[in-house]
Amino acid sequence: MSVDVVVPQISDGVTSGKVISVAASVGDQVEADQTLIELETDKAVVSIPSPAAGKISEIKVSEGDEVEVGAVIAVLEETEKETEEETEEETPATESKPQQEESPQDQKAEETKAAAPQKKSSAKKSPEPPASTGKDLVVIGAGPGGYAAAFRAAELGLSVTLIDPEENPGGVCLHRGCIPSKALLHVAKLITESQESAAIGITFAKPKIDVDRLRAWKNDVVEKLTGGLGAKVEKQKLNYIRGTAQFKDAHHLEVTDTDGKTSQLEFSQAILATGSRPIMLPGVEAGSQRIIDSTGALNLADVPKSLLVVGGGYIGLELGTAYAALGSKVTVVEMTDDLLPGCDRDLVSLLKRRLDKTFEDILLKTKVVELKEQKNGVAVTLEDKKGESTNRRFDKVLIAIGRKPNTEQLGLDKTQIKKNDKGFIEVDGQQRTAEQHIFAIGDIAGEPMLAHKAYAEADVAAEVAAGGKAVYEPRAIPAVVFTDPEIAWCGLTETQAREQKIKIKTAKLPWRGNGRCLTLGRDDGITKLIVDPENDRILGVAVAGPGAGELIAEGVLAMEMAALSEDLRKTIHPHPTLSETLYDAAKRL
Ligand SMILES: Cc1cc2nc3c(=O)[nH]c(=O)nc-3n(C[C@H](O)[C@H](O)[C@H](O)COP(=O)(O)OP(=O)(O)OC[C@H]3O[C@@H](n4cnc5c(N)ncnc54)[C@H](O)[C@@H]3O)c2cc1C
Repeated sequence: MSVDVVVPQISDGVTSGKVISVAASVGDQVEADQTLIELETDKAVVSIPSPAAGKISEIKVSEGDEVEVGAVIAVLEETEKETEEETEEETPATESKPQQEESPQDQKAEETKAAAPQKKSSAKKSPEPPASTGKDLVVIGAGPGGYAAAFRAAELGLSVTLIDPEENPGGVCLHRGCIPSKALLHVAKLITESQESAAIGITFAKPKIDVDRLRAWKNDVVEKLTGGLGAKVEKQKLNYIRGTAQFKDAHHLEVTDTDGKTSQLEFSQAILATGSRPIMLPGVEAGSQRIIDSTGALNLADVPKSLLVVGGGYIGLELGTAYAALGSKVTVVEMTDDLLPGCDRDLVSLLKRRLDKTFEDILLKTKVVELKEQKNGVAVTLEDKKGESTNRRFDKVLIAIGRKPNTEQLGLDKTQIKKNDKGFIEVDGQQRTAEQHIFAIGDIAGEPMLAHKAYAEADVAAEVAAGGKAVYEPRAIPAVVFTDPEIAWCGLTETQAREQKIKIKTAKLPWRGNGRCLTLGRDDGITKLIVDPENDRILGVAVAGPGAGELIAEGVLAMEMAALSEDLRKTIHPHPTLSETLYDAAKRL
């Protein structure tokens, strides 16, 4: 029988694609599901498989052709045997499914995969409490912890309800954290590099910044990712409830939907993933036009002429960097002795050297004692370590002094769940709370409050909830500050080694001798290996320089594999790359 092979429905909003490879020729004998054509859409690369075994009688496309969904790309003479075997569940060629390039096991790839589908896809459903089946799991909060846990649990066969007030999953990370901040930092990089290229003989005109268009692009990035997660919720048949939940007791939740309507939900197991929110200065309310938190800064209402960033941690420095590149005169005020408290000083000093030029001022050992919002700005009283105060005026003030876990509205007092003295929920190595059937993951379960730590805990909680054996015991959790230069580290820091009196040997490699660094027009950077002097085992890795956030992944892998510095030395690194700094640092030990 002759069968037309057609371009199947790829995903909502995608109507055509470009043929990037034709993997079969006329006369070829092909198996069912064998890839015939690969198409590139603006969202993904899609393989079009043969719907059945048979012989290709016609190929109707060539590489480079643009083809519409529904177009015939090949004709197949189906073999008799296959036709007989599959008569009962025959899949017509017109319904052949694309094999999207995705790895369902990898929760951390969600953001990338999410870029593929429907921008506007909504996961919104009204509360429909399912009856408790013993195999059901409710996940409260759909940030990186919650959505990753929900998807993993569904893959493992649990019936999952996911609750979050947003239209689509994403949490702080996608809606108002990691992703929008990195979009703005990309813009900062473009602007800075174009300005600095004058030194190598390339001059651009002063950038014109269309804030509305920039904001729309940033929002579009967020919508693509969150819409993709919404589509995945539907694909995995999760019960997504748009609302908030709180415990009535250890097996029942009250769910309030976005219209204020409440319903009861019984559950067998639950995962708490309600994340965190910004801490404000005492007496200061979030939501003002001029005194903003990270969410307000990422909304990018405008680019103020002057901006005071309160807090020299990673969020303050990243957002300060973005606004400075867009044209704000940025001042940073930090109460402690230095920026990025907790991070090794040699890395920070490298960053500070550059930030001294990027920012108008960096005021250390200084605190804000008063903020008064006025018609044309904010009057700020600052006090230094000696107790001397100064008055300054800024167009806007960004408060970035830390984040606190969202535990208050959860009705935890109706359960046995315990919090520690920092307000985080106490969990064991399997992410179980004091209620053995309730797990907690992500920011609510302790530091570091980072999306990738939430993903890792999500896997553990979901696997344990599904009856598997899993434990959360990473050897290293990377931390990245996406400033310029970037700073990244994992494992033991020199500061910790000193504080804990741990004997270490270090190798520090400045980047000024690295070929790739110089070809980037930069000479600032450092790679540091911290090893055990007894056995040469890598205990920590730290990198400062452009792209440090990518490089640190090698350090994390080295630590997870219990590598020795010799392993790094014997690993062939591509040339010329910044990754060679890890190899060269290892040679110094
Ligand atoms: C500006 C900024 C930049 C950041 N950059 C990075 C970065 O580059 N890399 C990184 O790793 N991390 C970064 N983070 C931190 C990262 O966003 C968080 O660590 C991460 O989002 C935590 O994930 P989570 O799942 O624990 O919670 P969240 O992402 O906070 O999600 C929790 C969700 O639960 C919902 N929720 C709360 N209460 C309830 C309730 N009662 N019922 C139902 N739902 C509820 C919330 O609305 C939210 O959607 C950044 C954060 C900020 C603010």
